[in-house]
Amino acid sequence: MTDYLRTLFLHPPSFQGFDGGAGARYQARREIRSFWYPTWLAQPAALVPGSRLVDAPPAELTLDDVAPLARDYDLAVLHTSAASFAHDVRVAEALKRESPRLRIGFVGAHVAVERERALGASPAIEFVAGNEFDFTIQEIAQDRPLASVAGLSYRVNGHFERTPERPPLEDMDSLPFVVDVYHRDLVIEQYFIGYLLHPYVSLYTGRGCRSRCTFCLWPQTVGGHRYRTRSVEHVVAEIAQATRHFPNVKEYFFDDDTFTDDLPRAEAIARGLGRLGVTWSCNAKANVPDATLRVLRDNGLRLLLVGYESGSQAVLNRVKKGIRIDVAREFTRSAKALGIKIHGTFIMGLPGETRETIQETIRFAREIDPDSLQVSLAAPYPGTALYQEALQQGWLEETALVDAGGMQTSVLGYPHLPRTEIFASVESFYRRFYFRPRKIFGFLREMVQDPALCRRRLAEGREFLRFLARRHSSA
Ligand code: SF4
Repeated sequence: MTDYLRTLFLHPPSFQGFDGGAGARYQARREIRSFWYPTWLAQPAALVPGSRLVDAPPAELTLDDVAPLARDYDLAVLHTSAASFAHDVRVAEALKRESPRLRIGFVGAHVAVERERALGASPAIEFVAGNEFDFTIQEIAQDRPLASVAGLSYRVNGHFERTPERPPLEDMDSLPFVVDVYHRDLVIEQYFIGYLLHPYVSLYTGRGCRSRCTFCLWPQTVGGHRYRTRSVEHVVAEIAQATRHFPNVKEYFFDDDTFTDDLPRAEAIARGLGRLGVTWSCNAKANVPDATLRVLRDNGLRLLLVGYESGSQAVLNRVKKGIRIDVAREFTRSAKALGIKIHGTFIMGLPGETRETIQETIRFAREIDPDSLQVSLAAPYPGTALYQEALQQGWLEETALVDAGGMQTSVLGYPHLPRTEIFASVESFYRRFYFRPRKIFGFLREMVQDPALCRRRLAEGREFLRFLARRHSSA
């Protein structure tokens, strides 16, 4: 039997309420308290017997809480992001001070694209893993010499070495279930997403997205542009296992970049879930045909998370979204007619944005009227085509993607559209979408039917207004 190092997987404490979990396409503190699951860490944790996963932000653990853990482990693997990197380095240094013999590695898209630069940030970091790091970490936890582990950059005698790249994982069923790690190490009630039922559980059924949107982090780093999938049976078996671990879960969410990229498979999984009788949701592109929507709905689909991004065809073309506005309209009509809820996500300040396209997008959102929406600021993450373009064009007016409180900042500015105006457009978008009688009555209707939901919505409403006020004062 293989011996393993005592391994700690840590999503470090950084900003209060910081959401850097797997589903967080923009790692930041949200409008309302939200946390995605640390699925990227849970996956290698499932491959390392005896390990422990600690997700500090939802558990409200501070540096003082996590630092003493260093003494109990041989190896610590920290998941980081562009927004939290500086904080995460400080956590690594604190762990090292606590236990100088602790070995520390960083994982995550941000460091994967700039491995040596990340290593150079602190002598506390011994290694940085490349894009898909599950088996890389497993081999390190087996105490193999770093030189023999593919997909790694590491520190040795004051300089950095790089091992050959690790090929993308093809046998996705070789990944053990993450729900066993969630069950062992996490408190699922600590995970909230405003538009999902509570408690929820999210996981991946595959990695990669066929689309090539220039701003999108995961397919350009960890996942790639082929949708590599787990078998239908493997996915359904994991959800069956989850129902045994968590009988109180109200909703399962499939966090694949685009779960609907493979329609026959999505339908087959749906039928398996239908037999289990669970309620579920997933990410989707705004082009799923009506016939598929019906199959998904009839088998427990409750909500689709749809990246519309913009209501301007010119902006969508400019960022290679690969979606036609008329198709998105038709899809939304079909989904709503079938009673499927939609959470739409939009981005302000993408290349091609103008004052007119901002208005066009707000009008579009009001017209298609998703049940809820999220408006983000364009975020050029290192490793994306958008980042390269922004550097070349001189659009990067700011470098910090989040402010001192962890909220998203507006970093891209154009000669015809300053970043301050883009920042302000988010608030105006939210106000013009939500502060309409139809939306307010919709929320009130939901709240009178369900007292628990009523309490949750009131708290979220207060938090949302505080968020708008805070943005207003920092504008
Ligand atoms: S379709 Fe969605 S997940 Fe795929 S590249 Fe575009 S934004 Fe990213």
